[in-house]
Amino acid sequence: MNILLLGPPGAGKGTQAKQLVDERQMVQLSTGDMLRAARTSGTEMGKKVAAVMDAGHLVTDDIVIGLIAEQLDASHEGGFIFDGFPRTLAQADALGELLASRDQKLDHVIEMQVDDDALVARIVGRSTCGDCGEIYHDQTKPIPADGKCTNCGGTEFKRRADDNEESLKIRLMAYYKQTSPLIGYYYAKGNLESVNGLGEIDAVASEIKAALG
Ligand code: AMP
Repeated sequence: MNILLLGPPGAGKGTQAKQLVDERQMVQLSTGDMLRAARTSGTEMGKKVAAVMDAGHLVTDDIVIGLIAEQLDASHEGGFIFDGFPRTLAQADALGELLASRDQKLDHVIEMQVDDDALVARIVGRSTCGDCGEIYHDQTKPIPADGKCTNCGGTEFKRRADDNEESLKIRLMAYYKQTSPLIGYYYAKGNLESVNGLGEIDAVASEIKAALG
């Protein structure tokens, strides 16, 4: 089963994807994580996209389509969770073609609905474990007092350069202008389901579980 988590920055796509990876042995394909890894390892592509990402704009379609295409050949029994890709109609068409050429398809598109006000609060204050990627938040899930990640015991935590109010405004604008048309695109294809992304992590996970059947 292949699924797409669709929603604005801060909707909880990454958090829910990680739960699905643990519970269903699915593979998370996050273009945001791939691009950040390219930056950290200092590849030419990583250097090229750094400023664009920090400002909150989308990188070009060809770059992210290439990143995803590289990952699809290894088959995984649990299937893929697309997180943060596609973000434009051109990317959505490309994903459909990449999957079809491998006799695969997107089985479920889950739209995670969250108010803009909640997104600002969620994003400004977010940090992740540098080792395993566990997500923390200053208010709702603070880093433990002993400074150790609850998941892996790691002691290094990172904040994203684009997790600030200024970049977030641009990221939200990019979402509404370039990504939200995908809601209609997948609705028309008949595989869109919407969940309330505002609840507790487990409540949202249950809604997603129900949608996946
Ligand atoms: P994310 O971690 O998904 O919030 O992505 C962080 C940043 O990476 C975005 O603000 C974009 O600059 C870039 N990015 C990630 N995925 C895509 C995509 N599918 N298309 C274009 N840019 C992307």
